[in-house]
Amino acid sequence: MVSRVIPVDPFDLVIFGSTGDLAQRKILPALFRRFCAGQWPEDVQIIGAARAVYGRDAFRDMVAESLRTHAAKQCRDTDALNSFLQRVDYVPLDALSDEGWDHLAAKLTVDRVRAFYFSVGPRLFGPLAESIQSHKLATDQTRIVVEKPFGHDLESARTLNATLAKHFSEGQIYRIDHYLGKETVQNLMAVRFGNMLFEPLWNSQYVDHIQITVAESVGIDGREEYYDRAGAMRDMMQNHLMQLLCLIAMEPPAKFDPDAVRDEKLKVIRALDSVEPHHIVRGQFEGDGPSYREVVGNPRSTTESYVALKAHVSNWRWAGTPFYLRTGKRLVARSSVINVMFKDAPHSIFGEDAGRHANVLSIRLQPNEGITLKVTIKEPGPGGMRLVDVPLDMSFAEALGPENQDPPDAYERLVMDVIRGNQTLFMRGDEVEAAWAWTDPIIAGWQARGDVPKPYESGSTGPGDAELLMKRDGRRWQGINP
Ligand code: NAP
Repeated sequence: MVSRVIPVDPFDLVIFGSTGDLAQRKILPALFRRFCAGQWPEDVQIIGAARAVYGRDAFRDMVAESLRTHAAKQCRDTDALNSFLQRVDYVPLDALSDEGWDHLAAKLTVDRVRAFYFSVGPRLFGPLAESIQSHKLATDQTRIVVEKPFGHDLESARTLNATLAKHFSEGQIYRIDHYLGKETVQNLMAVRFGNMLFEPLWNSQYVDHIQITVAESVGIDGREEYYDRAGAMRDMMQNHLMQLLCLIAMEPPAKFDPDAVRDEKLKVIRALDSVEPHHIVRGQFEGDGPSYREVVGNPRSTTESYVALKAHVSNWRWAGTPFYLRTGKRLVARSSVINVMFKDAPHSIFGEDAGRHANVLSIRLQPNEGITLKVTIKEPGPGGMRLVDVPLDMSFAEALGPENQDPPDAYERLVMDVIRGNQTLFMRGDEVEAAWAWTDPIIAGWQARGDVPKPYESGSTGPGDAELLMKRDGRRWQGINP
């Protein structure tokens, strides 16, 4: 099955922070892949901006080098590479100064989509929004793309929302959570709302509990200072895991339209109970290699590199069904998966000896994106009615054919959605604030109690207390499998 490419209209895209890690490793390669897929018209401009002084050709060389590393397959087509680079330009510019803006203005095309990507540190989001307006670069067709982190707590998120709102309407602001751009995350909505099979069972009557795991095997190299101020709760739970929880728990929107979807997600966040302190486990990695505290160079750090918690969505659909969420660094494997754990059949006609068997729907976000449904069947052979659980496995890559082996990177989808003007996969201001309103008291509680994270071995599944969190409820985590 060949995926359909829907071309976009001509556009100008300015990337502030174009020499940085995110732009070079993710945004520009994503743009190049979409270019190679034929999604762009001829007439497109990508303008990099940062303080470093580069000429256009030197910047193109830098981009070419990054594309060779991060879009190696597409770079084999040297004509495509050269043609892409022809559309790349650069303007030296300091977000905190008035210089360089006129130069940028002179390069922009009149009367077409004009997107400004803020791929810079968060302290520059406000000044950039202000400068775009004060230098009269904003038009009706202007959109701004704001990277994470969006605030550090509710107050800072509100302040940032207010600053952006002074200069842009909500319909022009694209707050990125790159998890929402992942194919499988979008498939979550397709599976839930495109099939009759699951929705009737998607509630507390049939679902025992839900597990959301975002495990990373890597540490925090290169982001030590930021991470030690943020921790897993702010860096992952408040945004990525919260978004996954919303997509699993939300009511069916009336249509697949940005505000209809985001209204339903917001209702989920607002229905979340505050989390009891004994329903949260924090951890910090140590052993096998440098410990967290050594990595961040702070021997007293009480920042968590792991967090697991039990959350409740207090509404009719989910009353009594817990959501267990966990995320951490330096764990045994890189694995993001959502497990919908159905209840046992109410009565076993096969007797007690047949054991307990419950269906599990696993939605794997990475790696090996796909969906598995664990069903119970009879074990083959003449030895009587013995039951066994087997997976009905749908690997998207296998099911959709070889041309879909390589699902598009989240940034490919998200950047093209910005150009198309589709905000469905971007967070709205009120959603972000509601997520902080839920997160802030948890962090304040740790601070008030002087909470210290539990140590866990690098390369393990996390602190033992996270196992206890489940065990106390007569449940256990599904394995973290690569
Ligand atoms: P980075 O590698 O430190 O790059 C920062 C970029 O901003 C550089 O191009 C830098 O170039 C430019 N810059 C800094 N100060 C500037 C100023 N005053 N005016 C204009 N440009 C300025 O950071 P990054 O990792 O790419 O991250 C960028 C943003 O994306 C951050 O908000 C980060 O939290 C977010 N993010 C990053 C990742 C990732 O994987 N890297 C993932 C998720 C979110 P000059 O120094 O030459 O100005």
